[in-house]
Amino acid sequence: MTAFSKGAARTHWDEETDVLVFGSGAAGLMAALSASACGMKALLCESSDLLGGTTATSGGSIWVPGASLIARNGRDEPAENVWRYLRNELGERLDEPLMRAFLEGCSDALDFLERDTDVRFQHAMNPDYHSDAPGGSSYGRNLSALPFDGRLLGKHFAMLRPPRPIYLTFGGMMVGRRDVQILLRPYASWRALKQTLGTIIPHLVSRLTHPRGTRLLIGNALVGRFMLSLIKAGVPMYVRHSLLELVREDGRVTGAIVETPAGPKAIRARNGVVLATGGIAQDLDARQEFMTRFPHRHSLAFSGNKGAGVRAARAIGAEVSRNVESPAYWSPASVKKNPDGTETVWIHGHMDRGKPGLIAVNAAGKRFANEADSYHDLVMAMYRDQTVHAPSTVGTPPQAWFICDHRFIKAYGLGLIKPLYPRLQPFVDAGYLRRADSLDELARLIGVDPAGLVGSVATHNVDCIVGVDTAFGRGASAFNRFNGDPDQKPNPCMRSIENAPFYAVAVQPCSIGTTVGLRTGLDAQVLGADGLSIPGLYACGNDMGSVMRGTYPGPGITLGPAIVFAWRAAQHIAQVKNSFASGQKTMGVAS
Ligand SMILES: Cc1cc2nc3c(=O)[nH]c(=O)nc-3n(C[C@H](O)[C@H](O)[C@H](O)COP(=O)(O)OP(=O)(O)OC[C@H]3O[C@@H](n4cnc5c(N)ncnc54)[C@H](O)[C@@H]3O)c2cc1C
Repeated sequence: MTAFSKGAARTHWDEETDVLVFGSGAAGLMAALSASACGMKALLCESSDLLGGTTATSGGSIWVPGASLIARNGRDEPAENVWRYLRNELGERLDEPLMRAFLEGCSDALDFLERDTDVRFQHAMNPDYHSDAPGGSSYGRNLSALPFDGRLLGKHFAMLRPPRPIYLTFGGMMVGRRDVQILLRPYASWRALKQTLGTIIPHLVSRLTHPRGTRLLIGNALVGRFMLSLIKAGVPMYVRHSLLELVREDGRVTGAIVETPAGPKAIRARNGVVLATGGIAQDLDARQEFMTRFPHRHSLAFSGNKGAGVRAARAIGAEVSRNVESPAYWSPASVKKNPDGTETVWIHGHMDRGKPGLIAVNAAGKRFANEADSYHDLVMAMYRDQTVHAPSTVGTPPQAWFICDHRFIKAYGLGLIKPLYPRLQPFVDAGYLRRADSLDELARLIGVDPAGLVGSVATHNVDCIVGVDTAFGRGASAFNRFNGDPDQKPNPCMRSIENAPFYAVAVQPCSIGTTVGLRTGLDAQVLGADGLSIPGLYACGNDMGSVMRGTYPGPGITLGPAIVFAWRAAQHIAQVKNSFASGQKTMGVAS
């Protein structure tokens, strides 16, 4: 297939639509759904053979301050609070007009979903990640998708990307944060037993007819709900349809060349093309270009997110937004090598790190951060600490160790090891878990300075007596305490490390999504080097440069903007279409 001359009009198209969307994560699904709701014919193309991208395997949380649902939950707040928080978080990087576009779109986009579709949410009530900073919220500005019955998708259920197997139990059952607490103690009360049976029995019944559990939660529920809404709206969703290049005629993007199982196809988009291919996380060249200061081996972004949207847009003159604090969002991850040579990567969200009785140390055996802070903050601290304490290793991924005792593992688990897990030996044999009878011995085993580690644990244990982390303030913020253990007094995030044997797990940075993406206008129009929009071209999700500029204010700050800007893109496409229809001439819009 030859490239198209930028000026000439194309005469042959294999297929036509009004709005052509690439990518089936939250951004693409929302763009297609919103375009359809605006009365336009939408077509969604997904390169892989399943729908949902990273979104389907994510926590599914969306940060949407001001959404009506939060206000209805009694948590209305002045917009100025949110602005104070964001100004503090983003500092000089804050793009006020773009952020205003996001904040103003939150309630409209969410109202549309609640009113007209099957995409429904609940107020998740997770504190902001810097809940105690000016304007921070301890009650939460995020929503999560309501659980969803996958059977409602009928035969399309098989097209929904499943969660990662390590997050499933009982042969394919999804387990939420609340489920874990109940499933761990099914006999604690009649209510717990009833809830346990009420979860497991329907799961086992659904397994008789389905290859995995059909009670979908978090990111999988979000994608399932979008899919149902799109099916009802009659929007075609093509899998194995991969964006190759954009077609530009007379300066306007009018369609794309798409790789399909039957060969390349030219698809015309009468009103707009939306790029939502998930960003550059798995594009090794782009990592080289944008992330050299942040070396890392692993990403849990979907493996097919190889920068197709960003690359295609750059090929026709689009600009990349580089003004970010970090080019990606991070989590500390531990990695287990499997006998077949594969690796299992576990990201340490909040289930273990935030609990009392664990510290993170560097090669000197010293703590370097508040371990109960957000996953992103902890990894950023690892990169900073590396430049100070291990400058000779800069350029390679930094490594830290999570240290705990036997009592901790039993109560809370550690990474791949679930709480109450009876057999730790396989994890020790695999080299994933390191174990020793003394801290000194453990330090020697993992190549950490023994005096440093012994000293760090001693200081930590003394701090635990009064529950004040004198070095890093662990447990001081509402966010820290939310993830701690409420039964632990006086500080739910601090308990001494003293019950041999002692354990260590190595952690390294793992990206969960990227922040470097295409520069856009307020309605997700892709901008060129001249700051003008490229007519007909839009980007959202991680294909769009993050409105948060690589800062991580709270849970859901990638999916929230993904949904809002996808909605804004559709509204803008509809407006341009209508103004064309009424004979008005549209021009490029300055950023
Ligand atoms: C474990 C985990 C938990 C997370 N939890 C949260 C959370 O709770 N809240 C939050 O805000 N963020 C979370 N994130 C980050 C979030 O999941 C991503 O930032 C988000 O899903 C990106 O959405 P997207 O629509 O841009 O891309 P994706 O959801 O990744 O979808 C992109 C799609 O585009 C497709 N594609 C790629 N190339 C092409 C092509 N050439 N043509 C057509 N299609 C193509 C891909 O196959 C993929 O299906 C989490 C990430 C991880 C890894």
